Amino acid sequence: MTDIRPKKLEDFVGQRHIVDNLKVFIDAAKKRDEPLEHVLLIGPPGLGKTTLANIIANEMGSGIKSTVGPSLERPADLAGILTSVPPKGVLFIDEIHRIPKAVEEYLYTAMEDFYIDIVVDKGPGAKTLRLHLPKFTLIGATTRMGLLSKPLLSRFGIVLRLDYYSPEELVEILKRSANILNVEFESEALFEIARRSRGTPRVANNLLRRVRDFLVAKGKDVITKDMAINALKKMGIDDLGLNEEDKRYLKIIYTKFRGGPVGLKTLAAALSEDEGTIEEVIEPYLLRMGLIERTPRGRILTLKGIEHITNVVN
Ligand code: ADP
Repeated sequence: MTDIRPKKLEDFVGQRHIVDNLKVFIDAAKKRDEPLEHVLLIGPPGLGKTTLANIIANEMGSGIKSTVGPSLERPADLAGILTSVPPKGVLFIDEIHRIPKAVEEYLYTAMEDFYIDIVVDKGPGAKTLRLHLPKFTLIGATTRMGLLSKPLLSRFGIVLRLDYYSPEELVEILKRSANILNVEFESEALFEIARRSRGTPRVANNLLRRVRDFLVAKGKDVITKDMAINALKKMGIDDLGLNEEDKRYLKIIYTKFRGGPVGLKTLAAALSEDEGTIEEVIEPYLLRMGLIERTPRGRILTLKGIEHITNVVN
């Protein structure tokens, strides 16, 4: 598959404050000939956390090892990957909030003083073996900052929060992707895709690929505005590009709770979804679109939310 991930900071669209800050931090670290401080990237899925981690390693001119929180089941798993990170390199841990507690504690000394104490043997003969590590940068990514423990959080020198992208920024991302994928397009067509992409580059790129499939199936070679709209309609994507989860959330507040207010706990039970996922993954975009509000008495649908969902329900 063609790789459309940007490799350099200058190709990373949007998130200006993050990009500007990172430039300064990376420059400073390079001048001091030190690894970059540990970085925590926070934000809903698909906004570019993994991409940024790889870009940071690339800009630092260092290697990167990647893993995901849940795969670090035992301290030995962490020791294994830590010792494989090149000096001044990057260890990227996606879903860092899902590292088991017993393993997380080993990260503390690794992050702060670049060593880990491993207990070898069990019982009376138990010994601790101190494993010194070359200096490295830990980059953690999380969709759920609320689940990160204080000691872990406090060990990140750089904490960056990614926000949803504007349709204009998504158009820019789509233009770049279309060029890499060798697809011709009308700018307006990309805008139609962008505004149905839930502010999320991953969604935008996926929709582009699927619209391209329609194009190929029809034997055409340029994505026009009409054909984009048609293809998106056929895929069942609504005007705001909400996904099934979003729609289910809105529908339940509308049908079960008469538009709200409904408390987070009750809502979580009705959706069989966990509270944190609702708060940190589903709601941010709906709030941003003005479809819901969080009030002291609970969540309510706004007028726009009601209009939107009644169009979908009917
Ligand atoms: P996350 O790790 O936050 O879930 P990713 O880094 O995997 O998200 O990004 C998803 C996709 O979106 C990637 O394929 C990448 O090409 C694209 N992407 C994300 N952010 C940007 C950006 N700012 N500019 C260009 N492409 C981006």
